[in-house]
Amino acid sequence: MFGMKLGRGPRPLRIAYGRLFHEANARSPVLTERADFDRMHHLAGDELARACGLRGTELKSFMPHAELTGFRQAARLAGNVETVPLTSALAVPGGPLSRACWNEMTGELLDALRDAGRLDGVYLALHGSMEVEGLDEAPEAWLLREVRRVVGSKVKIAVSYDLHANLSSGLVDPVDVLVAYRTNPHWDLAPTGFRAGNRLIRALRGEITPVHAWRKLPMVLGGGNTIDFLEPMRGVFRAMRAMEKDPRVVSASLFMVHPYTTAEHLGWAVHVCTNGDAALANELVDGFTDRVWEQRKSRLPPMLSVDEGLVAARKVRREGLGLGRLGPAIFVDVDDIVGAGAPGGNTRIATAFLAKARDLVAFVPVHDPALVAELWSAREGSRHDVVLRGTPGYHMPPLALDVTVSARSTGDFGRMVRLDVRHAEGGALHLVVTDGPPLPIHPSFWRAVGLDARAADVIVQKNFFHYRLFYATTAFSHFPVATGGATSFDQVIHARGIVPTEPATSLLDWREADPILRRPKRARTPMGSASPSSA
Ligand SMILES: [Zn+2]
Repeated sequence: MFGMKLGRGPRPLRIAYGRLFHEANARSPVLTERADFDRMHHLAGDELARACGLRGTELKSFMPHAELTGFRQAARLAGNVETVPLTSALAVPGGPLSRACWNEMTGELLDALRDAGRLDGVYLALHGSMEVEGLDEAPEAWLLREVRRVVGSKVKIAVSYDLHANLSSGLVDPVDVLVAYRTNPHWDLAPTGFRAGNRLIRALRGEITPVHAWRKLPMVLGGGNTIDFLEPMRGVFRAMRAMEKDPRVVSASLFMVHPYTTAEHLGWAVHVCTNGDAALANELVDGFTDRVWEQRKSRLPPMLSVDEGLVAARKVRREGLGLGRLGPAIFVDVDDIVGAGAPGGNTRIATAFLAKARDLVAFVPVHDPALVAELWSAREGSRHDVVLRGTPGYHMPPLALDVTVSARSTGDFGRMVRLDVRHAEGGALHLVVTDGPPLPIHPSFWRAVGLDARAADVIVQKNFFHYRLFYATTAFSHFPVATGGATSFDQVIHARGIVPTEPATSLLDWREADPILRRPKRARTPMGSASPSSA
C-alpha cells in the first residue's frame, strides 16, 4: 500500500509484549494479591526480555519457555522485528484479585505501554477467566479497552488466551489476532505465543487480513473427560487442528470454559479467523460449533460420595493384598481443586476418615493457616487437642482432633505441619496442614514431612489430572470424590446464567442462546473512577 512493507525495508516493525495471567475462582474466600504474583512470576523490561530469550527461563519452576518466548521466536524468524518488553505477571489459580493488586498490575503494564514509544503492534498473553474484587465485567475486557485507548486504532493487537477462557465480546472485539492453547492440560504455551506473533507480524505486513467469527454454546460442562488426547475430546481437537492447516484459515480455537466465575455470559465458545473471507469464517465456525455441541451429552466421570469412595478404597486394598500391592487409592477432592483456584481447606474428607475409616492409612492435605500458626513451635512428638477449621471464611465444618505433631517443613505452600492420629484399628490419619493452598501434585510433598506415598491406603489430591504424571508408578486407582466446595460441579450446573445451559437444561440447539451470550455486557460499575489511567 505504501510501496514498502513495514518491517521488510529499513524500518523494523516494533511490537510490544507482556502478560497478565490468572485463573480466578470466584468462590474462594482467599483474594489473590500482588505477593502471589511476585512469588510466582513478575518481571519487566530487560529482565523480562532476558527471561524470554531462548537461553532464558520464562516461568521459573514451571515452564522454561512459554508464550512470550514463543512470540519472540516468531519475531526472530520473521526478521526485522524489534520487540519491546512491557511487564509480565502470573500467579497460581486462586480467588479474585484484590482491587489494589489489579490497579497496581494494570497500572504497571499500561505505564510501560505508554513509555514504549512508537509501536506497530502489541501482543498480550492473557487467561480470559480473571476476576477482580468488585469489578462487574471481564477484567481482560477492561484491560484491552485501555490498551486500545493508549495505542490508538492503527496499532494491531494480538492476544492469546487459555482454553478455559470465558469468551465475551470485550475479549474479541478490540483484538486483531486471537489464538488459544490447544492442549489440555496445557503444555503448548510457547507454540501458542509463536502462533500469535507469527499471525500478528503477517497481518502488520499486509500478508493476511484477519476476519473473525465466533459462537457461544449454552454449555458450562461437557465433553466428559476434557483431556485433548483422550476420548471423547480427541476427535474434536483433531478436527480443530486440521481446520487451521487450511491455508485460508488464520486460526481456530475452542474454549472449554473455566466455570467457577461470577460471569453471567458463561459458556463454551468457538472462534475462527480467516484471511479476509467472512463467509468462510462463518461457515467454518458454525460447522465446528455443531461438532463441539455434540459433546454436551457425553457423560462426566461418575462422582462418588466419601462413603462410596471408602468402599472403593477398601476394595483396592483388598485386591492389592492378593496381587502384591496395587498402591494407594487416590481421592480427587473435586469440589476443592486448588489447581482450579479453590483454597484447599476442605475438612469434610478428614472428618469422614476419622469417623468411618479407622482401618485405613490416609494422607490428607488441608489449608488451615491458623492451625499452622498455633502448632508451628510445638515440640515434635507432642500431643495437642486442636480444632481443624480449614480456610478462614470457607465455612467448612470444624473437626476436633487429638493429634501428635510429627514433622514440619517450609516450601512452595509456605509452612506445613504434619499431624498424626493413630487408630487402634490399624489405620492412621496423616493430616498435613498448610499456610498456603496445598497442591500435592508430586509425592515429594509428603516426603518433605517424612511420609512415603506408597505407604498410604488413600491419598487426597487437589488437582484433576496433572498429579497422575508424577504418581504414574505409585497409584493406579483414581476416584473423584464430591463433598461441596469452591469447585463443586453441582453448584456450577445449577448456577443461574442469562440463558438455560447444558447440562442442567436439556437443549436441542445452541443457535438461540448464541446471540444472547455474545451480546456486549454493559459494565454496571464503571472502572473509570478507580482506574490507574484516570488517576
Ligand atoms: Zn486452563
